[in-house]
Formats: sequence, C-alpha cells, structure tokens
Amino acid sequence: MKVLISGASVAGPVLAHWLHRYGFEPTLVERTPAGRHGLGGHAVDLFSSAADITRRMGCWDAIEAARTQLDAMTIERFGRRPVEVDLSRMYAGISSRHVEILRGELTRTLYGATRDTAEYVFGDSIASLHDDGAGVDVVFDSGTERRFDLVIGADGMHSTVRRLVFGPEQPLHRPLGGYLAVFSMPDVFGLGNHTLSHFSVGKLVGIYGVHQTGQVRAGFLFRAPDLQYDYRDKDQQKALLAKEFRDYSWKVPQLLEHLEQAEDFYFDSIAQITLDTWHRGRIGLVGDAGYCPGPAVGGGTSLAVMAAYILAGELAAARSDLPSGLRNYERIIRPVVEQSRRFAPKVMRTIIPAGPLALRLMPAAAAVLPKLPTAVQRFIWSQNAVGKALSSVPLPDYSDLVQPQSGQSVT
Ligand SMILES: Cc1cc2nc3c(=O)[nH]c(=O)nc-3n(C[C@H](O)[C@H](O)[C@H](O)COP(=O)(O)OP(=O)(O)OC[C@H]3O[C@@H](n4cnc5c(N)ncnc54)[C@H](O)[C@@H]3O)c2cc1C
Repeated sequence: MKVLISGASVAGPVLAHWLHRYGFEPTLVERTPAGRHGLGGHAVDLFSSAADITRRMGCWDAIEAARTQLDAMTIERFGRRPVEVDLSRMYAGISSRHVEILRGELTRTLYGATRDTAEYVFGDSIASLHDDGAGVDVVFDSGTERRFDLVIGADGMHSTVRRLVFGPEQPLHRPLGGYLAVFSMPDVFGLGNHTLSHFSVGKLVGIYGVHQTGQVRAGFLFRAPDLQYDYRDKDQQKALLAKEFRDYSWKVPQLLEHLEQAEDFYFDSIAQITLDTWHRGRIGLVGDAGYCPGPAVGGGTSLAVMAAYILAGELAAARSDLPSGLRNYERIIRPVVEQSRRFAPKVMRTIIPAGPLALRLMPAAAAVLPKLPTAVQRFIWSQNAVGKALSSVPLPDYSDLVQPQSGQSVT
C-alpha cells in the first residue's frame, strides 16, 4: 500500500514511521527545500501520551537531548515588581514525561528517525488530486504524476490537501481574537537559559534563549480586532507587528530593531480549524491540517503526534478497507480534538490578559504553582481540560500489527 503524506513537520513523520512498521510504503512531500527543512520554529510541548509515542519510536533520547533547557522565567509588568518563576519545577510538576522542544529540533529528530524507511520529496507540493475510488492520482507542482492508495494531508493550518478536497480555508477558520509572531535574533540581553516576559492588558512579549544556536527567540502575542493580511506576505506581517507595538516600551524597541533582518519570522492569527470530518474517500487529514486548536494555545503538537500514531494503527487494522480505517481514526481522536478546541480559548485568555484583574492574578499563580508539592501540581494539572485530554487518552496498542520485515522490535 502506497501512502502519500503532504507535510513533513510533526504529524507527517510520525505517521510515516508507524505506517512503515505496519508494512505500508510512505512517501512524504514537503514544500520546504531540503536545506531549510527543520530550521527555525518555536518552543512546543510533548505531553505524556505523545512523549510515550516518541519513546516507542526510539526517538526519546534524541528529543530529551534537544529539549529547550529553559529553567527560569521573569514576569514583568508596568509599575509592578518582577515575579520569578521556577520553570524546571513547574515542568516536573506537570508530568515526569513532559518535554519542551523547539519545533524545528523535533522535526529534525523525527526526520532522522524516518529518512531511511520513508521516501522524502522536498521542495514540491501537491497541485491536484483525483480519487477514483480505487486509488488517488496526484499531480505535483513540479509536473510529476503518481498514483497512491491513500493521500494524507499533514500540511498544517493552511493545508493544501484540505483546500483541494474540502474547499477554501476561510469558512473553516475560527479566529480566537489573538495574533502571534516569533522570530530569532542575537542574544543581546545575555539570557542563556532564562526567559523574560512582559505582560500588559491584551499583550504578551516573551524572549527565551536557544541553547543550540546561542540566539534568542522573541515572541509577541496580542489581541486585536480582525486584521487583514496575507499569510504568505512576511513584509506585510512585519509591518503589522511593528505598528501594533510601536508605542510599547520595556525591551520591545530593541527587539523590533531586529525584525527586518529576521529570516525565520512567523506571524499568524490564533485561530482554529473547525472542519467536521477529516476524511473523504481515500484522502484524510491529520494534525493542524484537520483540527488546528489554535497555535500556542491548544497543545497542537501533542495532538498531532497522538493522532498520527492512531491514524497509522487504524489504517493497518483496516488493511484492505482504508476508508473504514479513516473513519475509525476519526471516531477515536474526535473527543480529544473537541476538548482541545474547547480549552484553547481559555488558555488564550490566561496568557494574554484580557483585563487588569487577569493581569494581576496570572503572574502570582505562575509563581506559586512550582512551589507546591509535585503531587499537588500534578493534581492541578490533571484538572485542566487540555492536560486531561492529552495525558489521559489510553493509547491503543497496535503492536501485533507490526510487520517483522521492518526489522525493529516493538517496545
Ligand atoms: C508560534 C507558535 C507557537 C506554538 N506553541 C506551541 C506550544 O507551546 N505547544 C504546542 O503543543 N504547540 C504549539 N504550537 C503548535 C504546533 O506548532 C502545531 O500544532 C504542530 O506543529 C502541528 O504539527 P503538524 O505536523 O500538524 O503541522 P505543522 O507543524 O504546521 O507542519 C506542516 C508541514 O507541512 C508543510 N507544508 C505546508 N504546506 C505544504 C504543501 N502545500 N505541500 C507540502 N508541504 C507543505 C510545512 O512546511 C510544514 O513542514 C505553536 C505554533 C506556533 C506557530
């Protein structure tokens, strides 16, 4: 069975790994050219179930080695004393199996784990798809034509596969009222493994060190009424960000000095993708492409890892009836997606303070949490809906479907 996966960031390589182990032949097409794949990216979280999956893939040691190593955060606000937060204790309190890692590092690790068992095509994209019921004919931007048994879109929030099969993005795009921007710059503040953050009503600015490069990432989150921009036009987005923060003091003027030169600049609205079904015939969606819960607020990375693992397992279990494998995958993953969707707006309200009360309370809570006994921290975490959803899903066991010729033992 030949499966084409569009997108090779998080969901794509995890899906490819497991499909190969179940005897499928995965091909990944990634729009980014080979030399730029896995560069840049922001800090993301792998919570326990997703961490377990990467352990079963044999990637855990590499992921642990690449983790961010951010150990402390200073929270600042106008007219108030700074609050120090012990991040190492906070992460330990969330779960013993949680890791924060830059998305680019995660992508590179997953690529390393799959490059010998999956075909990778870089610098190309699907131009058209035709599903005739027995297979899918694909034409690529490069002009290449190929046929696959199944096509999966793992190509993120602005998925091409979704647009080709389910129509334009706009009606499926539910904005949560916030925006975020991230870019790299030199460590002019000597941060090392420290995080600096500044909160005000409707705005959050964070700066954190990246030990792999010695640089820092500057992140901006803000609330704004509907902004009009083209998600591919970086210059337009940089101008929007500069305008939004032009009167902000703190360290923002120094950060904005590096905006123009930033090559890995990312800007997008914090929005959800609200498609009701994630498959049609022999074409399916996984990760942000199908159900982005909102960048930075919905645990999208863990969701992408778990969903890709379950999709591969259900396809293998369905074997000759791939559409029924897609249906079963959707049934299993739907409750997790729905929890994540419900929870994301609450996270956004917490991290971008909506008013003076939230601005006063949030830093105090962040400072107190790591000081509580680990068991209490884990209890508090277990009560939060996204944590509950992403950490408590019993992972189905597909180990009896692993094909012996993959040459790997099941762990
Ligand atoms: C600033 C920011 C902060 C975030 N913080 C967190 C966090 O703290 N915790 C967390 O869990 N999640 C976080 N996320 C979300 C997280 O990055 C995503 O949920 C996760 O990466 C989803 O993985 P994915 O593989 O589904 O899609 P993506 O990671 O978006 O990958 C899509 C891939 O498809 C490729 N692609 C796109 N179009 C095409 C095409 N036409 N053809 C071929 N390839 C294509 C892209 O180049 C990319 O490699 C954050 C996101 C952002 C933007």
